[in-house]
Amino acid sequence: MTASREVHLAARPVGEPKRSDFELVEVELPDPGPGELLVRNAWMSVDPYMRGRMNDVKSYVPPFQIGSPLEGGAVGEVLASPDDRVPVGQQVMHMLGWREYALVPAEGARPIDTALAPAAAYLGVLGVTGFTAYVGLFEIAKLREGDVVFVSAAAGAVGSIAGQLAKIKGCRVIGSAGSAEKVDYLINVLGFDAAFNYRDGPVRDSLRRAAPDGIDVYFDNVGGEHLEAALECLRDFGRVAMCGAISLYNATELPPGPRNIPEVVRKRLMLRGFIITDHMQLMGDFVRDVGGWLQAGKIDYRETVVEGIERAPEALIGLFRGQNLGKMLVHIGDG
Ligand code: NDP
Repeated sequence: MTASREVHLAARPVGEPKRSDFELVEVELPDPGPGELLVRNAWMSVDPYMRGRMNDVKSYVPPFQIGSPLEGGAVGEVLASPDDRVPVGQQVMHMLGWREYALVPAEGARPIDTALAPAAAYLGVLGVTGFTAYVGLFEIAKLREGDVVFVSAAAGAVGSIAGQLAKIKGCRVIGSAGSAEKVDYLINVLGFDAAFNYRDGPVRDSLRRAAPDGIDVYFDNVGGEHLEAALECLRDFGRVAMCGAISLYNATELPPGPRNIPEVVRKRLMLRGFIITDHMQLMGDFVRDVGGWLQAGKIDYRETVVEGIERAPEALIGLFRGQNLGKMLVHIGDG
């Protein structure tokens, strides 16, 4: 038996999640059964999509259940293993975060190489969020050299990598973010060509100023007003990678819109939604390309670390308040 603490869903949130929607529970984990690994989690990821799983609605992933632990990406060390395919001491990435210790089916654990990058990077730049940026830009938006690219939530985990990949490919890149500090980071550290704080005025006006001749690609992390502004600024045959719509995730009623959807026909635009799990065949290319650019010092990545599993709910809520620069992580313990 292993004593562990885990975060359970206590109530389904209405609007922005509250601390009382989560409960920290002490449990005794049984010894691993056949085919199971015992993993001590060191880091866990919090991601905007988790908000959707807190609702009782069918989506591309099943909802979390009240009274059960939440789930999500985590990395940690294998403490017990049924066989030597995944040896004791190996660091693995898996999907049973939100708990200190996890019993992980061996086939659900991916060994990670901590000589190449620190374990936490496999939850961000070398993990889901980096891969999302890669798939969205190259596979969905079919990025071309010289494109003018607009990225929203550009100082976040996906957006910061998307913008840098577009810069590496010789594009002009514009980003939006929610604070002056983030705008400064986009321009002075990441080398974006332009950036603006979307809280300073209508997104449409700021985007027009940053891209007076229009944009070719919009990498949409935000939806809502940002998407409407992008449709207005896209040039003929522009492409939109519809990655997420965080501005709507806490909405109790979805607003109508974008109001200017006829632009899609008039300009012959392509809008395409995507979920990375449909594109796993690109993982090898991603590791080669982004791993290589990372090692060559061409990619900057940031992490915002919240200490302690008891503060994991705070970290998730923080995503909706823009409290992260780069990838939001919870440090659960060493291992
Ligand atoms: P981020 O690291 O970008 O964190 C979320 C950021 O969103 C915050 O830092 C905040 O930054 C911004 N934000 C929050 N609320 C609003 C709002 N109302 N309007 C504008 N910006 C807001 O998260 P991720 O990088 O993990 O995710 C980015 C997007 O990618 C999300 O939409 C997510 O759902 C999506 N995603 C999609 C995947 C797929 O397969 N399609 C896979 C993974 C992620 P700021 O200070 O700038 O407001």
